[in-house]
Amino acid sequence: MTVNSETGPLRFGPFEVTSQVFYITPHSFALVNLKPLLPGHVLVCPQKPHKRLTDLSAPELTDLMQAVQRVQRMLARHYFTSSSSSSSSSAGEKAEEEEEQTGEDGAEAGQTVPHLHVHVIPRIHGATAKSGDGPGDKIYEMMADENGNVGGALWDREQQQQQREGGASSGRPQPGGGFPRIEDADRQARSMREMEEEAKLFRDVLGRLDREES
Ligand code: AMP
Repeated sequence: MTVNSETGPLRFGPFEVTSQVFYITPHSFALVNLKPLLPGHVLVCPQKPHKRLTDLSAPELTDLMQAVQRVQRMLARHYFTSSSSSSSSSAGEKAEEEEEQTGEDGAEAGQTVPHLHVHVIPRIHGATAKSGDGPGDKIYEMMADENGNVGGALWDREQQQQQREGGASSGRPQPGGGFPRIEDADRQARSMREMEEEAKLFRDVLGRLDREES
């Protein structure tokens, strides 16, 4: 679907973001971020302004996850394509090489158990919900430190078992995501021009991916 012509104006919450959008599917769209935490930090949203994951219908949910996967592949192509990749690689081999290098999930993104998973953490009002309107939320720090290092805990358990059986040990998985905490208020909003240039760049990378795969 072409951005602008077929969908009309696109909104992210109360904001009109049409010119920041670089990818549109029947139920979703992806846009560049006003205040990215890191380069390539983009947003993928349902077209209807749902607030919660549980609000999405099954087709909307499937469409959103497919859009996330497509955007992840595009970002991997843009940020992780290695110059040492053989030019004679097939499209399939190239895709595999890129995915091996992706830091959007996997060990380089802080994953400690190498099996895709979604964290679902209920935030209970008056107990575990974020209190007040202030910035920051300790949960993100906890997930990135030893509290969230499930792979390390499982490694310790296996290690004890192997020691009892006289086996050799290997390296303990380390939690990732060790970036300094950046408060929303400290992040610089980007200019519309900068965001539109990035949206064009990502549209071009997606176009190249589409052509290679067709
Ligand atoms: P959250 O704090 O999880 O609700 O995330 C909101 C995200 O939206 C942050 O990454 C913001 O930088 C981003 N954001 C807020 N307003 C805009 C906007 N007008 N255009 C693009 N991204 C935005």
